[in-house]
Amino acid sequence: MRTPIIAGNWKMFKTVSEAEAFFAEVKGKAERPGVESVICAPFTNLPALVKAAAGTTIAIGAQNMHFEDSGAFTGEISGPMLKELGVKYVILGHSERRAYFAETDEIVNKKVHAAFKHGLTPIICVGEKLEEREAGKTKDVCKTQTEAALKGLTAEQAAQAVIAYEPIWAIGTGKSSTADDAEDVIAYIRGVVRGLFGEAADKIRIQYGGSVKPDNIREFLSRPNIDGALVGGASLEPASYIKLIEGA
Ligand code: 13P
Repeated sequence: MRTPIIAGNWKMFKTVSEAEAFFAEVKGKAERPGVESVICAPFTNLPALVKAAAGTTIAIGAQNMHFEDSGAFTGEISGPMLKELGVKYVILGHSERRAYFAETDEIVNKKVHAAFKHGLTPIICVGEKLEEREAGKTKDVCKTQTEAALKGLTAEQAAQAVIAYEPIWAIGTGKSSTADDAEDVIAYIRGVVRGLFGEAADKIRIQYGGSVKPDNIREFLSRPNIDGALVGGASLEPASYIKLIEGA
């Protein structure tokens, strides 16, 4: 059985004091046996959040990292830096990184390898644009992105990875995919993983993301292939985040 994983992606929201105030409210509440609860916060918040999360079951994640361990890469953060902090997860290849920061499939793949090298679990984002969906290319796009991101991994690593299927048109729009559509695409992505890594496909967790809210999360998670959610806007308020975990 795969443990559902609910991850909040805070994007570029919250100062350190705001993050601490959030955590004080969700501690002991956004925690449930059998559900993994993860907060992916801006880099500046990570030390305070890792400290606050000690002794809880909430894991802390970053939203990006560089693929090199160190070097002349002004403004970047590396895997060893995150690992030493006690960060467990790292979102890689989010569509906002692909769109605004020119991340290619090749860069995402390098980052995925770097994450495993440093003992971090990648949450790898894939998903189609609206025009790709309308052109009937959803599955092709997801296949290309998934195969590229996982290229060169061992089956053991693939089994540990997390994929987030996030249709771009559903992000921050309030217009989520239907649970049936998300299940269809996610089952397809699992098939792609099976083609590459065999039985690891039964272990890899695949989330849905895109306008997930406390009132629709249960519907998504009721589908057999949907192993959790990657949540933006609805993860920012403590009460809403607690409800997401309760509803999972
Ligand atoms: P929203 O939940 O705000 O639609 O964002 C989804 C997302 O991009 C999570 O990574």
